[in-house]
Amino acid sequence: MNADYPGAIVVEAANYGYFSGNRPLAWCLHTPEEPADDDPQTPYYFHNTNRDASTTYFVSYWGFVFQCVPESEGAYANAVEGKPYPDWADSTRNLNLQTLSVEIEGFAASIHQTMPRGSPQWKALVELMAHRCKALNIPPERTFGHYEVSIYRSDPGQLNTQQVIADVITKMEKDMVTDAQFEALQAQVNEIQRTAYTQAGVDVYAAGLRQEIIDAVAPLQAQIDALETAQRAVGLKRGDSVQLT
Ligand SMILES: [Zn+2]
Repeated sequence: MNADYPGAIVVEAANYGYFSGNRPLAWCLHTPEEPADDDPQTPYYFHNTNRDASTTYFVSYWGFVFQCVPESEGAYANAVEGKPYPDWADSTRNLNLQTLSVEIEGFAASIHQTMPRGSPQWKALVELMAHRCKALNIPPERTFGHYEVSIYRSDPGQLNTQQVIADVITKMEKDMVTDAQFEALQAQVNEIQRTAYTQAGVDVYAAGLRQEIIDAVAPLQAQIDALETAQRAVGLKRGDSVQLT
């Protein structure tokens, strides 16, 4: 499979997908209950497991993003269990076919401590969500914790989901290019192109000049060669004095 999020490390999950494809409308956040450290295990667990368990994305403690399931397919991540469907969702459709899931390396009990706001992991999560919200037209406000749709789950614990959403919105606004910025960028592009054409013109002109010099020098060189040949024939070397009679 290919990554939907540019630069994501692809470790494809063994098990995912339904009879119909995913139409992502929201984000479900999880903690996979593995230590927040420099050893991301969950993507490889999903790659090797026989269980019906997977995730769309995984964000490691150091901020590396893994993609395990294509966005167009449902991950086995967050089906509704014993709770009502979210307001925006279609309750006749599996929630895994209406969401993207993110496993955030760490534990539900301590993710609010191991992923402080501004940490590499926090930033990677915000950047991932902002990028894909834009690409897929997902409102960032439609982000919820797994525990909100399953009576059996507590993840992602005390993660401040509202702060994540606020930071995603800010990130998306920052990424928006205003008309003035666009015009400034366009002017820069025009200038670069103009310079490139000018440079190309100079190169062509310089090549022409070089050829002109070569053409001009060629007959002179022939005369020099002839002179040297004549000098050798009479045994003269450069610098010898010649007695003219
Ligand atoms: Zn979960």
